[in-house]
Amino acid sequence: MDDRQFRNAMGKFATGVNVIATEVDGEAYGMTANAFMSVSLDPKLIVISIGDKAKMLDRIRQSGKFSVNVLSCEQQEESMRFAGQKQFEDKYEFDELAGVPVVSDAVCQLSCEVYNEHTEGDHVLFIGKVNDLTLTDGDPLIFNCGKYRELKELELEEVR
Ligand code: FAD
Ligand code: NAD
Repeated sequence: MDDRQFRNAMGKFATGVNVIATEVDGEAYGMTANAFMSVSLDPKLIVISIGDKAKMLDRIRQSGKFSVNVLSCEQQEESMRFAGQKQFEDKYEFDELAGVPVVSDAVCQLSCEVYNEHTEGDHVLFIGKVNDLTLTDGDPLIFNCGKYRELKELELEEVR
């Protein structure tokens, strides 16, 4: 099995799109990520997975904190910006939640501290303890088969 076939298989699993953000020496940084899962209710834990070549890896290790920002369907540009898929002239202005940079207008912002980390293959899994969160109405951005998509309600036939 080659890498492309594996990625094509993983791409069948539709996900939301997050921007992970952190701050080091007063500078905020973002990175697009869809590897994310809820882990535990007591305590409130989530997991993200960061590739070993991503600059975000050392940035999170240095700060010990990060945010997970679930993008809305209006925020494909933010996803492209923080995946390096599109270049922008301007510097991005983050908001702040519990001492961590967050993306404005995301449908959910989670402010986390690093609870644990595990190296697995060519990625590092960070377990985050959620210290604060915000929720905003709106549909999430979807990533499926390597494409950005939007949620569309199924028009189910009425069953009598
Ligand atoms: P950089 O290359 O430094 O940053 C990424 C981009 O964000 C750069 O273009 C940079 O200019 C811009 N940027 C960062 N901070 C700022 C700022 N303050 N102001 C303005 N611009 C800024 N990789 C994973 O490891 N795990 C995943 O789960 C994952 N999921 C992905 C899901 C999708 C849908 C996509 C498209 C990509 C995903 N990636 C994932 C790949 C990852 O987003 C890229 O490899 C990314 O470029 C790695 O960023 P970096 O940490 O090396 O930082
Ligand atoms: P793609 O077809 O590469 O992605 C489909 C799926 O494959 C993703 O949702 C993810 O589950 C998996 N995947 C892709 N790259 C991976 C990697 N390096 N490690 C582990 N799983 C990976 O979609 P695309 O549009 O070609 O992706 C754009 C870029 O973003 C590529 O460079 C891709 O490698 C990167 N990406 C990385 C991850 C990740 O590291 N977890 C996840 C998604 C996308």
